[in-house]
Amino acid sequence: MHELSIAKNIIRIAGEHLSPDEQALLTKIRVRIGKFSTIVPDLLQSGFEAAVDGTAMENAKLEITVIPLRVQCNSCGEVSEIEPVDFTCPVCCSNDVDVVEGNEIMIENLEITEPINH
Ligand SMILES: [Zn+2]
Repeated sequence: MHELSIAKNIIRIAGEHLSPDEQALLTKIRVRIGKFSTIVPDLLQSGFEAAVDGTAMENAKLEITVIPLRVQCNSCGEVSEIEPVDFTCPVCCSNDVDVVEGNEIMIENLEITEPINH
C-alpha cells in the first residue's frame, strides 16, 4: 500500500513548512493527484487519517482533487484531455503524444485557522 508512505510524505513535507504552532492550527492540506497516477484517492485518504493521528497535525483534513490526464500531440501540437486507456490525440488520431499533466501528485496548499485573540 504505497498510499500510506505517500500520506506520510505529505505530512512530513507539511511539517517542514510549518512551525509547531502552525502545525497545531493546520486544518486542511490540499493535494492534486493526476488521474494517470497509480494513487487511489480513497486509500490515500484513509492512509492520511491513520498517519496523521497522534501527530501535531491531527486536526488537519486531506482534500484531494483528481486532475485529468492531458497530453500534447507531437503531430498537430494540440493539448487534449484523454482517458488513460486512450493514448491517442482526439484531434488528429495520432498516437505520438507526450503526457503533459495528470501523472503527478502535488501539494496545492496548506490551510491554517488563525488563532482568535481575546
Ligand atoms: Zn494531433
